[in-house]
Amino acid sequence: MKVMDEKTTKRAVAVAETGSMATLSGGTGGQPVGKVFLADLVGLTGCEISLNRLEPGIGYPFRHKHKRNEEVYIVTSGRGTLYGDGVAYLLVSGSVVRLSPDVDRCLTAADDSPLEYVCVQAPEGAMPYRYTDDGQVTGSAVPYPKTFPMPARVQQRLKALGLE
Ligand code: ZN
Repeated sequence: MKVMDEKTTKRAVAVAETGSMATLSGGTGGQPVGKVFLADLVGLTGCEISLNRLEPGIGYPFRHKHKRNEEVYIVTSGRGTLYGDGVAYLLVSGSVVRLSPDVDRCLTAADDSPLEYVCVQAPEGAMPYRYTDDGQVTGSAVPYPKTFPMPARVQQRLKALGLE
């Protein structure tokens, strides 16, 4: 893992290379759990995101809950089980789980599979709008040759802004 430029985190665009999720724990013979927090790495100000890997058969040795933050677990590879208030939820690649702050939780990888996931945490209720209300189209010209077809609603916005 490397940060492209230490000063990058103070700039508008911050880039960091964390490497493959499989290398988070050091692979075979490495640490049983790997975790990288991204807030400091790229200067996040509204949420915390971590990249995580549990080796097969390994789970966190404690349960926890949060004071303010809701969490979303997004499984990117492998299998495991999340326990939320004592209920077991089986996780596979593609599983997405949202947990309220006060849910008592713990997590384990399956005995025969690692579990790789992204965890996003942000203050519950801190985003009272949908992302589609926040993004603002700024133009149609892009520096690459292939795009998917322009969605009709974006076309209408560009036209209204005189940017088509
Ligand atoms: Zn947590």
